[in-house]
Amino acid sequence: MTSATTPALPQAPAGEAIIRAEKIEKYYSQPSENRIQVISATDLEIVPGEILALLGPSGSGKSTMLRMLTGLSRPSAGQVYWHEKPIAEAQINVSIVFQSFALFPWLTVLENVEAPLQARGVSPDGRRERSLRMLDTVGLAGFEAAYPKELSGGMRQRVGFARALVVEPEVLFMDEPFSALDVLTAENLRSELLELWANKTMPTKAVFIVTHNIEEAVLLADRIIVLGRNPGHIRTDFRVQIPQPRDRKAEAFTQLVDYIYKVLTRPDVVPTEIPTHPDGKKVRDQRQMRYQMLPHARPGGVAGLLELVLDKGGRDDIYRLADDLAFEIDDLLPIVDAAQLLGFLKVEEGDAAITESGAEFANSEILHQKELFREAATANVLLLRQIVRALEAKSDHSVPEDFFLDMLDEQFSDEESLRQLETAITWGRYAELFDFDAARRRFFLPKEEEEEAEAAGGVE
Ligand code: ADP
Ligand code: MG
Repeated sequence: MTSATTPALPQAPAGEAIIRAEKIEKYYSQPSENRIQVISATDLEIVPGEILALLGPSGSGKSTMLRMLTGLSRPSAGQVYWHEKPIAEAQINVSIVFQSFALFPWLTVLENVEAPLQARGVSPDGRRERSLRMLDTVGLAGFEAAYPKELSGGMRQRVGFARALVVEPEVLFMDEPFSALDVLTAENLRSELLELWANKTMPTKAVFIVTHNIEEAVLLADRIIVLGRNPGHIRTDFRVQIPQPRDRKAEAFTQLVDYIYKVLTRPDVVPTEIPTHPDGKKVRDQRQMRYQMLPHARPGGVAGLLELVLDKGGRDDIYRLADDLAFEIDDLLPIVDAAQLLGFLKVEEGDAAITESGAEFANSEILHQKELFREAATANVLLLRQIVRALEAKSDHSVPEDFFLDMLDEQFSDEESLRQLETAITWGRYAELFDFDAARRRFFLPKEEEEEAEAAGGVE
């Protein structure tokens, strides 16, 4: 896949977002206990020219997010802007298609489509003309006089689309619009929607679709945001660079589906590399994570992997590497992630390719390896830098474990914070950055460093 096959999507410069959410949060109060947080502070932009899919497990807050972005519900904190104006004060132009068709049962198909135009004060003639045209566009010519109950689910959802599109919304929102339909009907409607979008038959500038269906997201979206839950937050936000029409069986497609599946099912996976992401742009994780999630891999494992990749000419398929090592892919991935985080390895379309510094590392003897690891780790891993800095700052060069756990548990669960620190200890010890006294639960600087620090800073 090259960028040449994918038309460049307009990257809106700052300020050109149609809708921009700034640090929006949502809490619900509960009768029994305190309020619960459903969405943690989230930034999100909807820009012209793209179909944006919000993907996440059930209960992760997708609908809540959609309601806040459309002004249906107010964020508990933060602000949503419509063309840079607070949404409550703006004249917004959006439509929403829901999963349940939400048609008026007592109105005919035509009257259902006319209803929003009537609400906007369009003249009866104008309403009729625009609605008939829209019904024709969605393949419902001839059904104008029917009532919703006389229609199949697929046809009712067509009415739902016609009613949403007839007002020519600037942003079309959809909340699981195809999930109540049978597979074939859903597939047909998806292709028709894409056709309307590609032909510019609808004047809509952006589409925002909520779904829990990974393939649906990969099929439709120019950009996918994956939500994690408890509370809802953005795990990853990336562009899909597969040209339309997309083939579900194509390798780029299945790779991306697998990748997203991995991210969704394994909350500990750091979304770092997006397959089919050719422009080398880093994936934006908008959660503004302070700490990277350290993959739980040992330095020795990283060294072993790099040696093997080098042995294979510097590049090999990750699945083949796992096979050669008789590793399960899930056991190999943390090591790959670690090598990548340290800048020793690049992952490109399922291949692991060794970098220059990775090759140097693999070719060095152990003492030099430790040095290279130390450089890479301090350059790339914030937590390690912070531990070293804190140790250097203290006159006794010793800091209790809890100090770092307190910082980590702002971002990770208690259990994960412990695991993060455990990995940091393994890496830090190997790199001889610091040591850890397991009995006293304290970090301290290794001897020489301590002496150097004392020599530099005077005896305290
Ligand atoms: P999704 O659309 O991803 O399935 P929702 O946005 O519907 O998720 O819900 C996210 C979380 O918020 C769920 O745990 C849900 O139970 C909770 N929730 C949604 N609406 C309310 C509400 N009105 N009061 C209390 N909790 C709610
Ligand atoms: Mg929902």
